[in-house]
Amino acid sequence: MPSPFLTPNPIADADSLALLQLRRDQLVPTILRDHDDENQGYFEGKVTNTRFGSFPHSTLIGKPWGSQVVASKVDTGSRGRRPTNKRKAEDLDAPATPTATEEENKKPALRTPVAADSGFLHILAPTPEAWTLSLPHRTQVVYTPDYSYVLHRLRARPGCTVIEAGAGSGSFTHASVRAVFNGYPETEPTAKKRRLGKVCSFEFHEQRVGKVQEEIKDHGLDGLVEVTHRDVYEDGFLLGTPHTGKSPKASAIFLDLPAPWLALKHLVRNPPAGQESALDPESPAYLCTFSPCLEQVERTIRTMRQMGWLNISMVEVAQRRIDVKRDRVGLDTEGERGATVFPQTVEQAVEKLRSDEQHAKLVRENRVNRSQPDYEPIEKGDCTFHDKDFGLPKYAQGRLVHRSEIDLRTHTSYLVFAILPRAWSEEDESRCREQWPSDK
Ligand code: SAM
Repeated sequence: MPSPFLTPNPIADADSLALLQLRRDQLVPTILRDHDDENQGYFEGKVTNTRFGSFPHSTLIGKPWGSQVVASKVDTGSRGRRPTNKRKAEDLDAPATPTATEEENKKPALRTPVAADSGFLHILAPTPEAWTLSLPHRTQVVYTPDYSYVLHRLRARPGCTVIEAGAGSGSFTHASVRAVFNGYPETEPTAKKRRLGKVCSFEFHEQRVGKVQEEIKDHGLDGLVEVTHRDVYEDGFLLGTPHTGKSPKASAIFLDLPAPWLALKHLVRNPPAGQESALDPESPAYLCTFSPCLEQVERTIRTMRQMGWLNISMVEVAQRRIDVKRDRVGLDTEGERGATVFPQTVEQAVEKLRSDEQHAKLVRENRVNRSQPDYEPIEKGDCTFHDKDFGLPKYAQGRLVHRSEIDLRTHTSYLVFAILPRAWSEEDESRCREQWPSDK
């Protein structure tokens, strides 16, 4: 089945991952189920309970991505469970209704959930960025500002193979598989002619391996990501059996390990006799290591130099989001906070007088609530009033200010990049001369 991370349907499907957005940066990942395995017979499906209310999955499945969904009143004692042939009606809390088969009870809800006053959420299609913000943390993770830069520098593109170690919580795994995804074999008739793109992920912590494998399967990414349980310092990056296994033929490598320099001996063009190189012989190898301390960086760079890596450079991504908005200081409470920023010109003064008068009139007529901070639209009879009705231009909503957001989630580490050129033999040289004779 195509992965919702790579080719999402326009609507939220059952048995697929969805991200339930409660606030801008508060997302709850869930696999949508139209039946509840633990409580078979509840026909609103699985229920996700949040601080903003309960959301039966029957109210989420089939919704276009981005939809707002209102919480439902879910009464666990009397929710619409229909007795099946296997159960006696009197055993159930719900009033006896005609019997249903187990199959019928697995169908999505037959009733419309009651809108509760508790709240709502937005249902979002999964993306690596949203997954990074919501995934269950088992380790430190690589965040979007870092992995977007890393993938760019590693030339990760459709069709190439990425080696990643360690897999950790799978944050980088999801971002990298999207970067190299080149279509599904069964849906792309031309797939045989081109490389499909793959992520070969290595991790030595057994439970983490199991968890990442489970998530990869749930997210429809198996076949595109291969997770291997391995100590890469000792056993390297070949697939299957260590040292004698198959080469992943990687052109991009990302090492998020405590001692990346110990893994470099397995990333060479000429491995010991009887072993394949883990690198793609037809491409330069692009490497990035991710380390929090400069001592680690120094040791990594020293080993890189000894092993023939070139173009070595170190980068720290210090992205900071700038929040630009209008600040209403002084707009309604001149003097109170000691700052009057409006009006600043005669035209603005006239405009403000006019809008104040208009607003006061609406308040007198009980058509707008004075305490409404932003003059939001209010309903009165069959008409709705908007900002523009009060003659309030944008600038009158306050002075334009900007603040940098200090709590942007990122795990600051030093990124060391390097390139290992492809091996170049006499044969390559003469083939090249034949192809481009003018270069002789
Ligand atoms: N990049 C990951 C992400 O974005 O979620 C986080 C990686 S986490 C910081 C580092 C991982 O490396 C840990 O899960 C650890 O178990 C693993 N690790 C450490 N040494 C290793 C080794 N020798 N071989 C394989 N994995 C190793």
